Amino acid sequence: MDYTALCQRIAQAAARAGRDVRLLAVSKSQPAAAIRALAARGQRAFGENYVQEALAKQRELADLALEWHMIGPLQSNKCREVARHFAWLQSLDRDKLIEPLARARPDHLPPLNVLIEVNIDAEASKSGCAPQAVAALAARIVATPRLALRGLMAIPAADADAARRRDAFRRMRNLYDALKSTYPQVDTLSMGMSDDFELAIAEGATLVRIGTALFGPRQRRESAIGHRE
Ligand SMILES: *Cc1c(COP(=O)(O)O)cnc(C)c1O
Repeated sequence: MDYTALCQRIAQAAARAGRDVRLLAVSKSQPAAAIRALAARGQRAFGENYVQEALAKQRELADLALEWHMIGPLQSNKCREVARHFAWLQSLDRDKLIEPLARARPDHLPPLNVLIEVNIDAEASKSGCAPQAVAALAARIVATPRLALRGLMAIPAADADAARRRDAFRRMRNLYDALKSTYPQVDTLSMGMSDDFELAIAEGATLVRIGTALFGPRQRRESAIGHRE
């Protein structure tokens, strides 16, 4: 889909929902040139799943003021690179990552914005924490200097029909509202991708993550979105 047309569809869905919605362009497996072309049209926020792939593109695009989001499953040994080279981490799903991220966040950068990833459909192979784990993780993030808790992220089951997906989005919305009532600084509910972003916006998303609809199909490596490698 053309960038302008996509932005219009997002804006229309956002207007119907009565809420601002941001677009994260998911650029995994896309070349730096494709990111540059979209940046020239005004897109600033880009999402990547693999740290090494992202760092290579960031070096190529260092002349642009882009906002990089890490959205893929994170291994502990990649915390340092994420803390140094990204503005957001959307896939924090366990306690163990918090300290290494905070320790590695450089003083000259603002705190790392963090979303807790929730495995909302309890899929065995998928990353993300259980819904019951959100409160404890949030408390630890909020108590950690150099990290800023901003909200939640989820990838509902890919095989779910529209009704089940809507239900997953609603459960995320409830978790998000509960989190926000404890921590008013929370302002981001990241859900919705190429196939379901309008439904996600209707159900409460404030940020949608879109790859295929913007850039066209990726290579097969990405078929299992959000799954651990
Ligand atoms: C790849 C990916 C997306 C984008 O998916 P599309 O269906 O291509 O829009 C969104 N979120 C995450 C976490 C992803 O890994």
